[in-house]
Amino acid sequence: VTAFPASVHRQRLAAAAAEARTRGLDALLVTPSPDYLYLLGYNAPPLERLTCLIVRPKGGTTLVLPHLEEPLARHELGALADEVELVTWEETEDPFAVVGQLVRGAGRVALQDQMWARFVLRLGAALDGTQLVEAGPAINALRRTKSPEEVERLRTAAAAADQAMEAITAEQLSGRSEAEVSSHIRQLLRDARHDTADWAIVASGPNAASPHHAPGDRVIHAGDAIVLDIGGTANGYASDTTRTAFVGLPPEEFQDLYAVLQEAQAAACEAVRPGVPARDVDREAREIIADAGYGALFTHRTGHGIGLETHEEPYLVESNSDPLREGDAFSVEPGIYVEGRWGARIEDIVVCTAGGGERLNQSSRDLRIVT
Ligand code: ZN
Ligand code: ZN
Ligand code: ZN
Repeated sequence: VTAFPASVHRQRLAAAAAEARTRGLDALLVTPSPDYLYLLGYNAPPLERLTCLIVRPKGGTTLVLPHLEEPLARHELGALADEVELVTWEETEDPFAVVGQLVRGAGRVALQDQMWARFVLRLGAALDGTQLVEAGPAINALRRTKSPEEVERLRTAAAAADQAMEAITAEQLSGRSEAEVSSHIRQLLRDARHDTADWAIVASGPNAASPHHAPGDRVIHAGDAIVLDIGGTANGYASDTTRTAFVGLPPEEFQDLYAVLQEAQAAACEAVRPGVPARDVDREAREIIADAGYGALFTHRTGHGIGLETHEEPYLVESNSDPLREGDAFSVEPGIYVEGRWGARIEDIVVCTAGGGERLNQSSRDLRIVT
């Protein structure tokens, strides 16, 4: 993974401090996680020993870490080490008391969303009298807006996933088990410049009605619909794309269902522009599917944000009235699932630009006829 220059992380730390200021927070406490990686440019090992970044509203960033982790941190921080104060603790010290001392007198402190419960409870005890809140809103407000460099990485990851998708749907799939096809897709993703191939859903026949089906022993055969949902990371950023295939000639009933889905997915992508509430993109797809009589069979939200993580803000769901912003990147992935029979889904990663939605996945969204 190519690191961004220290200037990018300097700017992100300053922006996090500004968010803390705006939100009336006396500190943000960030343990190893995607947020930590986003701010500092490296991921400290998530150990039972406490490593905790303290971002203050007036600037001044402190990293509390075990003494033995200091050489690694200095090496990874590089030029950024100049502006992050390192406070190390010895094996016999209480690191929670160290953090407590550093944020003494704080009224409101925000904790990173994925912090371990043990750390939350011990920090809570050390910060007796301080109100603890979620750091998610402050940090997600930054992370959701992708810089042009981040969009470029998402674009590269999407193109690589498209390449793997084209390769697998050019192969014969009948006679092979879902699990075998799935492990082959992971290899195709790695061949296509992915650093990690995190999943490859191969859901065939009736299994295609389960959106997150775990590929198993079922052998693919003629008359199967196959939902292929694949992704991983390339240069630190996530890919996530879904295409649907059919073994042999699809019955008219399935072709009709698929045509509705394709129309709904395209309409949702076209609804994307800055200022549009996230829920409106969901509604766009849902209305078309409901009008065709499949409303109850579209059982999940339309999409999720994507970046360092596969699922992050913003979520395209009825409960999210937050307006989309330029730089948001998210999936648009409606699906229709008929229990016991078949299912279909189409998923692209879309970036919200000033001019509207830009789909990063370019591979054909037509139903793929396979052998
Ligand atoms: Zn999913
Ligand atoms: Zn997916
Ligand atoms: Zn997805």
